[in-house]
Amino acid sequence: MAKTARETFRVPGGSRDVPVDLAALDPAGRPIGPKDKSAAEADMVDLDARIDARQEALYAESVGGGQRAVLLVLQGMDTSGKGGVIRHVAGMVNPQGLQIASFTAPTESERAHHFLWRIRKRVPVPGRIGVFDRSHYEDVLVVRVESLVPEQIWRARYEEINAFEAELTEQGVTVLKCMLHISPQEQAERLLARLEDPSKHWKYNPRDVDARARWHDYQAAYAEALRRCDTDDAPWYVVPSDRKWYRNWVIATLLAETLEELDPQFPAGDFDIATERARIVESVIT
Ligand code: AMP
Ligand code: MG
Repeated sequence: MAKTARETFRVPGGSRDVPVDLAALDPAGRPIGPKDKSAAEADMVDLDARIDARQEALYAESVGGGQRAVLLVLQGMDTSGKGGVIRHVAGMVNPQGLQIASFTAPTESERAHHFLWRIRKRVPVPGRIGVFDRSHYEDVLVVRVESLVPEQIWRARYEEINAFEAELTEQGVTVLKCMLHISPQEQAERLLARLEDPSKHWKYNPRDVDARARWHDYQAAYAEALRRCDTDDAPWYVVPSDRKWYRNWVIATLLAETLEELDPQFPAGDFDIATERARIVESVIT
């Protein structure tokens, strides 16, 4: 049997004591799946059908009282394609079934609360697929690299995050976390492309270049977050993201596999079909 996407892209290690070596994972790698863009596009048609059907069942299940939901966490350096994934993968399902949340720098009032306060408010309700465009992981990524709080505080957050995600699992939210892994060369090309196209200037932030200058610090922060917070209940996947079509294929496949394992069920109606049929037929409207 071919390896599943979940087996292939799960962050390697399997032990909290072994450091994650992101440099050993190729951002342009393509270990399974389509070999080129047109093959990926053909696969996406099938993935769309798989995801859309399970999402509808998940939603229906919640109408029948089910408590389950899915949370897809997207993290990655600037230009890694979080927005593209929302457009191409989340865009496969009924918008009513989605709950998308983007986390930018916290406001002053958010900063006055615990770091998980603003996150908890955006956890998907039963029946929905939630997508986090950045997440609570920023509180151990940018916050660590930029020394926004003392080390003692951000260090304690790995365990707080694990406890929080265990709580989500407990309440029926299946968590999957994707790091969109790009190379610094690919990022430079994408940033330059943004500069060249006036319709992309709104996406260009000179501060992204400051973050880029700290590339290795960010990679180290990612490596530690992935190692400390990869659990069987809330696994981390490292998604090769230098090719946009491959990145989208991987995340769509991870989502399809996750939904298929959940196998949400349409609830049975609580009415008698024969009786209802007769009522409809008899109720002639003139
Ligand atoms: P963008 O995703 O391009 O809209 O940028 C959002 C910005 O918000 C990034 O620079 C993040 O690093 C920043 N950000 C998100 N969460 C936090 C956080 N908890 N603390 C500080 N900065 C954050
Ligand atoms: Mg940005």
